[in-house]
Amino acid sequence: MEQLIERYELAIRAGREAIWDWDLRTDQIYYSARFLQLLGLPGGDLTASPDLWLGRVHPDDVDWLNAVFQGQLGEQAPPFHLEHRVERTDGSWCWLLCRGVAIPGHDGEPVRLVGSVADVTERKLAEEALRRSEERYALAARGANDGLWDWNLETDEIYYSPRWKQMLGCADAVAASPRTWFERVVAADRAELEAAIGAHLTGDTGHLEHEFRMRHSDGSELWLLVRGIAVRLDDGRPVRMAGSLTDVTARKRAERQLLFDALHDGLTGLPNRTLLIERIGQALDRDRRARGGQFAVLLLDIDRFKTINDSLGPVDGDQVLMTTAARLDKACHHGDTVARLSADEFGLLVNEVDDIASAVTAARRFADAVAQPIRLGDDDHLLTCSVGVALSGSGYAAPDDMLRDASLAMFRAKTGGGNRVELFDGQLHRHALDMLRLETDLRTAIDAGELCLFYQPIVSMATGRLAGFEALMRWRHPRRGLMQPSEFIPVAEETGLIVPMGRWALHKAAKRLAAWQRLRDPVSQHLFMSVNVSGKQFAEDDLVGLVAEVLDAHPSLDPASIKLEITESLLMQDPERSVQLMRRLKALGVRLSLDDFGTGYSSLSYLSRFPVDTLKIDRSFVSGIAEGGGGAEIVRIIGVLANALLMEVTAEGIESQPEVEFLRGLPTHYGQGFLFGRPMPEQQADRMVRRDPLLLEAVTS
Ligand code: C2E
Ligand code: MG
Ligand code: MG
Repeated sequence: MEQLIERYELAIRAGREAIWDWDLRTDQIYYSARFLQLLGLPGGDLTASPDLWLGRVHPDDVDWLNAVFQGQLGEQAPPFHLEHRVERTDGSWCWLLCRGVAIPGHDGEPVRLVGSVADVTERKLAEEALRRSEERYALAARGANDGLWDWNLETDEIYYSPRWKQMLGCADAVAASPRTWFERVVAADRAELEAAIGAHLTGDTGHLEHEFRMRHSDGSELWLLVRGIAVRLDDGRPVRMAGSLTDVTARKRAERQLLFDALHDGLTGLPNRTLLIERIGQALDRDRRARGGQFAVLLLDIDRFKTINDSLGPVDGDQVLMTTAARLDKACHHGDTVARLSADEFGLLVNEVDDIASAVTAARRFADAVAQPIRLGDDDHLLTCSVGVALSGSGYAAPDDMLRDASLAMFRAKTGGGNRVELFDGQLHRHALDMLRLETDLRTAIDAGELCLFYQPIVSMATGRLAGFEALMRWRHPRRGLMQPSEFIPVAEETGLIVPMGRWALHKAAKRLAAWQRLRDPVSQHLFMSVNVSGKQFAEDDLVGLVAEVLDAHPSLDPASIKLEITESLLMQDPERSVQLMRRLKALGVRLSLDDFGTGYSSLSYLSRFPVDTLKIDRSFVSGIAEGGGGAEIVRIIGVLANALLMEVTAEGIESQPEVEFLRGLPTHYGQGFLFGRPMPEQQADRMVRRDPLLLEAVTS
């Protein structure tokens, strides 16, 4: 027995719990030293009056405590526990968790109450703080027009605030059960919402915050933001969770609209480049995981769209684009993507193509869908398009690469005359790379002063003397050396760089000619200068403005001594517009030359309407005329034609004396060719002007 007591005392001293033992017969309580310590009293164990304890209990708790004790005096009362406040000797309040049990005597009546007390002040204060913050939170939520909910996890009942019900169009009497909430959640969002709640209840997240969709009673869909926090017991077990529900439908809608706008084209409503690239990326991923079949990327460009747009106006232009978009959309199969990439350029992702043949077939199908008559204004127009195809399975890493290759193929379809389908191949890629490098270099060439003009003499067939020059562009490339036009003009045309280059050339040539004319001797005063004008300049640049600017810069220059060389094929692309533009150029006093004449398809009716001064017979007809053959006849006919139209004739590419003799039999006014001189650098041309040599034996011989 003594041992037992000793163990008991040791246990008491070791533990944090304070012990009390109330002898109901003597009405004295044994307090352990720890109990007295909790109350702020010094000293060891003590047996004293209950007042020592009960006299310090908080007035709000005292009745309740007494009631509990009273309850213990009945027969076979169960153990009790309750929390109450006591005032310590220093005046501060301390929360005690008091547990106890009644011990019956021989007659079954309780003779003692025995139990423990523990200091739970810290937890109580924390709970209090939490409650206060929850109250604040709830108030804030109410202010923010949110719905509130409070979920008793032990009874599984949820309190829904009136605003909560109103937001969802629920009746006031709706069941206080979680089902009221969860059965209204859109099915697709339910699992994620439950996961988010679960993650907070297990303590994985500090609070609940989740967006999901619910059905309003009227059937509409709402986007909601739920926020909440769990209330936990000491051991962390959640017993309650409460929070707010906010209607974020308007914001979500705006976000989705923004997202839609960011990924779609405003005019046609089709996906845009960004979305297409994303889809191609996904297709490439599938391809890499070897799960998907092959697919193709198509780039489709409407032929002559710019002409349509310029001539018929932007309203009809838009009509063409929208019609094309609709036709493509209709022609595509489920899972394919049609996107609008730029003005008249559409990109397509076509699934399930097994090989080159089926890719081309698919491309044709789209091209055919577009190539239907369309009514614009009062007329039917036939649309055609050029399509480039790139096929997956060639080890593409990035979507951009596929688009680039499709675009290269499309470009080839364009330059091949349009209205056709081209497939990308590796050679095209190498060529494109070369072009790209050249393009990069060319961009800096003008500013770096690498471009220069060579001048080729043009001879008067009547006098045999120098009559003028043709300015021909050369590029002194820092690594490749002197480059001929055939090596860089095509790239310049493709990239549009020809426009600034051509401007530069005209300025430069005019300046040179003005300097020669200032020499004031009989030859140089009447020299003319032929300058080539590119199709791009003719179609896109303000050529009239440029010529006016050049003439302004050199007031001494006779406008008629400037000859603009325009190629025949160029004019026929849009003859009506060409006539207008040529008239305006003529009004400035400059002269016009039809270059490479005979190689294009000028209709005679138009030729007579073109205000052209000179026809330049193409070299291919001139070379070899002396040996007879078809060339000679053509040259003869061109001569007659020019005569009838009151145009002068220049023969290009004269390399031999017999050619000269033949041309003399025709009304040929000027000759140009290696026989008289090759294109030469400025200084050499300058020497020729000053020397004024006889370049051709006089006719008299
Ligand atoms: P083009 O305007 O028809 O120029 C005549 C071309 O024929 C020149 O070639 C000239 O060197 C060449 N040629 C002249 N006589 C003979 C001959 O007797 N035999 C042979 N085999 N060839 C002869 P080039 O300088 O290589 O220029 C080629 C083309 O590049 C030009 O043809 C013109 O279309 C274009 N080009 C040259 N400079 C410019 C320019 O400043 N702007 C534009 N847009 N194009 C230019
Ligand atoms: Mg020329
Ligand atoms: Mg020519």
